[in-house]
Amino acid sequence: MTASIRSLAADLRQGKTSAVELTQEYLQRIAQFDDQLNSYITLAPDRALTQAQAADERIANGDASLLCGIPIAHKDLFCTRNLATTCASKMLANFVSPYNATVVERIDASGAVTLGKTNLDEFAMGSSNENSFFGVVKNPWDLNCVPGGSSGGSAAAVAAELCVAATGTDTGGSIRQPAAFCGITGLKPTYGRVSRLGMVAYASSLDQGGVMAKSADDCAILLEAMAGFDPKDSTSSDHATTHYSEQLNESIAGLRIGIPRQYFNEQLDPKMTALLQTALVELEKLGAQLIDIDLQQTALAIPAYYIIAPAEASTNLSRYDGVRYGYRCENPTDLQDLYVRSRSEAFGEEVQRRILVGTYSLSSGYYDAYYGQAQRARRLIAEDFAKAFSQVDIIASPTTPGPAFGLDSKTQDPVAMYLEDIYTLAVNLAGLPGLSMPAGFYDHRPVGLQLIGNHFDEATLLRTAHQFQQTTDWHIRRPSLISGGKA
Ligand code: GLN
Repeated sequence: MTASIRSLAADLRQGKTSAVELTQEYLQRIAQFDDQLNSYITLAPDRALTQAQAADERIANGDASLLCGIPIAHKDLFCTRNLATTCASKMLANFVSPYNATVVERIDASGAVTLGKTNLDEFAMGSSNENSFFGVVKNPWDLNCVPGGSSGGSAAAVAAELCVAATGTDTGGSIRQPAAFCGITGLKPTYGRVSRLGMVAYASSLDQGGVMAKSADDCAILLEAMAGFDPKDSTSSDHATTHYSEQLNESIAGLRIGIPRQYFNEQLDPKMTALLQTALVELEKLGAQLIDIDLQQTALAIPAYYIIAPAEASTNLSRYDGVRYGYRCENPTDLQDLYVRSRSEAFGEEVQRRILVGTYSLSSGYYDAYYGQAQRARRLIAEDFAKAFSQVDIIASPTTPGPAFGLDSKTQDPVAMYLEDIYTLAVNLAGLPGLSMPAGFYDHRPVGLQLIGNHFDEATLLRTAHQFQQTTDWHIRRPSLISGGKA
């Protein structure tokens, strides 16, 4: 069951298996293992089997893309028609969207089979998947550890082979950090590369949908199906897409990789430094050139992000008022009571904290001191990267400060949780693409190397990761939970 999309597509064409059989196999694995992980919120077996039947027909007619018949999962932040979209919140626990997200439409059109919707931190706010109304997700490499967040369900499901690949969303690291913690490959594309239509908004100027899979090759195939201009999303870019999966075999000889001094400094755990250095040497062996660079404004990323994201969240989440969408409290005494109780009863603690922080920083009198200042910091961060990309082609960094941390070890200390995002946030603030790929093990837990690209240069990130994955096997290892073996 460690099959790649290409090998499964070949098996489907050679009649070694069918999409229906494959779908049944994955549904069976979910039934067997997901009690331990809680990676899915909603399963869609009937819908999946209907899609699989249609996929088998397309394959038989010779009219099928590589994704046709491949069982995937969607983070439960993407709207799906006729299938619940909960955002892991009590607020939307019974919400069924009247339309599909563009990402879902495009993946459906490719013929892929949707097994279900994966768990996440409520409204994508979190770094551990402990903020879900539907319960904590566990890391398949160590059931006492978090899978990362917010796309922790997608990451755990891919790592445990409860789907072949999955969608995720990344506002400040939610694809890359759980990918690193679960030993898979995850790509957050450039802001605007993938349509946000039907992707429930958290922080609109930062949110971006992307892909999570075992390998860069699988990520490239899935991204190809999703990426591209969407006339229905005004922030979607009309910059031309490319055939990501066809450029993976080009060598990376001569590629200039920037190594930011501010990321590999004495604050990074020495064991992490050693592991990541080994991965960098591997890239050097492939012909890449490592160049020390500065990203002077790195320290601004956490404060800027944790002002801007809550500010945008506070306005985006004002639509959940007990009137138009979702949960409504019982027997309200008047309109004010309806608003207050619906929101207090249905939003979790972290979501309420962010709404409060956001409302405060946007209020008159504080706007300039907080929100205005954070926007200035954001511009400095973007300029920092622009300068770096005049010297190098991509940048390499840790994805996270360490491996997956213990369940409940940071839930009482929100700031400690926010500090976990130190290496991922700046990428979203600058709108750049970022990828995390498996780069070794810290004790028995996976760690990721992050690759950051220039705007719309997803192809170079995927190619670098693919080349790395041709000479390393970190991405092939599977947790003992499912393989019976050890990493
Ligand atoms: N951990 C960050 C946060 O809590 C990022 C989340 C995300 O990317 N959706 O906001």
